[in-house]
Amino acid sequence: MELEIVEVVSRTVQGEGKFIGTPISLIRLPGCNLKCSYCDTKYAWKEESWSTKISFEELKDNLPCTNVLITGGEPTIHKDFELLFTSLQFCGKTIHVETNGTNLKRDWALARDMHWCISPKLWSSGNGISMVDYGNMIRPFVISGANVYLKFVISDAEDMLESLKLLQEVVHKVPVFYQPVSNDTEMYKWMVENGPEDARYLLQLHKLAGMV
Ligand code: SF4
Repeated sequence: MELEIVEVVSRTVQGEGKFIGTPISLIRLPGCNLKCSYCDTKYAWKEESWSTKISFEELKDNLPCTNVLITGGEPTIHKDFELLFTSLQFCGKTIHVETNGTNLKRDWALARDMHWCISPKLWSSGNGISMVDYGNMIRPFVISGANVYLKFVISDAEDMLESLKLLQEVVHKVPVFYQPVSNDTEMYKWMVENGPEDARYLLQLHKLAGMV
């Protein structure tokens, strides 16, 4: 298998969500089906990407950590996404996926040793996705019993309201993480004061540490 990738980072730290602080190998795939106003990985968008090709053997040799993060862009739209994660699992890797949640295939929920960080894109992202539609996309995946957690990026109070609406739509209890757009500490304080009590509030650790 030959893969189109943006970058491979042999060892960094998971800077967000449930596994924050865990050493992890990172694969960034090119392309995204959305265009978020605050996207911090625009260089992974297809039209801006300097993507390159790499063989699976070469890729595998550059992934020393047991935990491997597949991200983007939006990794699930990559034509080889499923082949990539199944091949890595075959090599004994535990796979973490960061996704905007708009392209989830129900079969993937049955894959073992997978952790799905779904980051629904709210009002301020500019994508105009309704939370009812988002709920319909995510709910079957959650119900299937996959290891799922939700990560919300918050810019303002409208975003917080939308996130609460989506949590009502999803119904099933899943771990929820909030982070302020661009690591804004004022927004962070506001979220802690105004967000739900049973969520967790994080800053992006990798950015604080000056890592990828
Ligand atoms: S879904 Fe993610 S990669 Fe795509 S535009 Fe939004 S923030 Fe950027």
